[in-house]
Amino acid sequence: MNPLLDFSGLPRFAELQPQHIAPAVDQLLAEGRATIERVTAAPVTWDSFVAPLEDANERIGRAWGQVAHLHAVLDSPELREVYNANLPKITQYWTELGQNQRLFEKYKQLSASPEFAALSKARKRIVENALRDFRLGGAELPPEKKARFAKIQEELARSGSRFSENLLDATKAFGLVVDESRIGGIPQDVLDAAREAAEKEGKAGWKFTLHAPSYMPVMQYADDRRLRETMYRESVTRASEFGNPEWDNTPLIARIVELRGELAGLLGYRNFAEVSLVPKMAESPQQVLAFLEDLARRARPFAEKDVAELREFARRELGIAELQSWDVAYASEKLRVERYAFSEQEVKQYFPEEVAVHGLFRVAETLYGIRIKAAEAPRWHEDVRFYEIRDSAGALVGQFYMDLYARDTKRGGAWMDDAITRRRKGNALQTPVAYLTCNFSRPVGGRPALFTHDEVLTLFHEFGHGLHHLLTRIEDLGVSGINGVEWDAVELPSQFMENFCWEWDVLRHMTRHIDTAAPLPRALFDKMVAAKNFQSGLGMLRQLEFAVFDMRLHAEYQPGRTALQLLDEVRGRIAVLRPPAYNRFPNNFSHIFAGGYAAGYYSYKWAEVLSADAYAAFEEMSESHGILNVSTGERFRDEILAVGGSRPAAESFRAFRGREPTVDALLRHNGMTAA
Ligand code: ZN
Repeated sequence: MNPLLDFSGLPRFAELQPQHIAPAVDQLLAEGRATIERVTAAPVTWDSFVAPLEDANERIGRAWGQVAHLHAVLDSPELREVYNANLPKITQYWTELGQNQRLFEKYKQLSASPEFAALSKARKRIVENALRDFRLGGAELPPEKKARFAKIQEELARSGSRFSENLLDATKAFGLVVDESRIGGIPQDVLDAAREAAEKEGKAGWKFTLHAPSYMPVMQYADDRRLRETMYRESVTRASEFGNPEWDNTPLIARIVELRGELAGLLGYRNFAEVSLVPKMAESPQQVLAFLEDLARRARPFAEKDVAELREFARRELGIAELQSWDVAYASEKLRVERYAFSEQEVKQYFPEEVAVHGLFRVAETLYGIRIKAAEAPRWHEDVRFYEIRDSAGALVGQFYMDLYARDTKRGGAWMDDAITRRRKGNALQTPVAYLTCNFSRPVGGRPALFTHDEVLTLFHEFGHGLHHLLTRIEDLGVSGINGVEWDAVELPSQFMENFCWEWDVLRHMTRHIDTAAPLPRALFDKMVAAKNFQSGLGMLRQLEFAVFDMRLHAEYQPGRTALQLLDEVRGRIAVLRPPAYNRFPNNFSHIFAGGYAAGYYSYKWAEVLSADAYAAFEEMSESHGILNVSTGERFRDEILAVGGSRPAAESFRAFRGREPTVDALLRHNGMTAA
């Protein structure tokens, strides 16, 4: 039997071969299409319409999920070829599904039927989400508007990809080869790479480029101020009118904003920001802007202090009379080292893998009344470990894989992905399964792997996503675990978990020096916290500037006003450091013009506020009950983790916190409290 077609239990990774993929995909997609035919002819009830559709789509999702997972963590030429050959088939299926007019009509009938009122909250929400997505996809438009809608979407997709191509071409086009007199201060590994880059072109010297691994260290470390200035100017004018006209993103920006406005109009909204917010937790552009501006107002005094200190330090210690944009990273790095330097290498000695992982499990076990134990399962690589979670009565709650070390065959970064989602199928309850994937350094020389504090934060973060998926109590696929959770609320459980890594009472129990077995010294911990909060005001204002620009650009479309003019206005209100007039930041703001973040950049700060404020509920109890407070943990589990996407995130937050979110905890966690 084809292991990809076996849905009776855990994925059969040990047997799965590339030749299994195409036959399984073809069979499952054919079954999916047959199901669509069948359910659109059947009466509209949950059991005869939604349930069979969910079953068929779940099978496709689960099978393809295994393939996509292997493609990400165990790449090989054979697998890549099969993956790329089958991906378009899968994409095509989901596109068809999203545009199927008959399905849309069926969902409408179901929501208008007498049965609807009797459905559970979770099921109602699944139907409402489906209707919402059909509407946002243009399903309700009359034929001529539908055609225009499709044309706009097409042009937007093309413009977005052109935007990133231009940026990439402009980035690649620049290189600067310098001689020995100009490389002072730059770290050796960066110089080695620069030397190699020059040699490749048959040149003597060192070649620097605008790619981040070359550009960032130059800005941070190069003592040659003119070198920094040149690199800065080249970087912030990429894909603008100052370079090759073919790569100028300025007309694309205007066109993208105009098209998004038109698309919003077709759907009956006043602007694109409103469209973007429909499936999100935030309610309106006005609410988001008020939120961002409030945060900016409160962070501003701290940012002003950061800048004043930096100017003074640059003048006194670096001989820089007037701090310019190309001095900021350089002077900041020098100031950071002077004040807070500690060695990452030293910190690492306190975080052997076993101790860190055990510390993480202990936090989750204590807070949520669960037990985590190693277990057996078919694996895709010998590095992989497998665990099960049981409740206090011993019942299986969920299972997860941990694949922590970097490998040549694994894509970069860290992420959580769902393998199986919790749901009820008749009398049987299907328990959830998750993949946790990281790229940490592996054990060498017979010693355990040692994690940096950043890596420990990443581990807690991804595990937070995992708990959101695994501790759900929802039994309907579409809103179980992380399914159906609003995009701007999905980082709440993950960022929430990170807080425990900054908690002395937690950290001292999850650190043990590899040689001496001593816990992390308090003085070192204090330095780490201070370093974390270094220039946090300045950093926050910068993010807020981008977020306000993005939201206003999509909320108040004004023909004739350029993106640059708007950005200038936003900077006038928010920024404490003004860049030079030639700065063309919008031309490389890929997040909103080529990525999925249009009128959504605010979500970074939004989710941080939610997670910090949720964590503050634990801090408020810590005096009397310690930070790992069981009753608060239970409430967090019940009101946030367990409910998944079955109700609006705002409702879940209010249920947990008893009030609306406030920004106080985030400011406090970043060291921004009035002295
Ligand atoms: Zn995340």
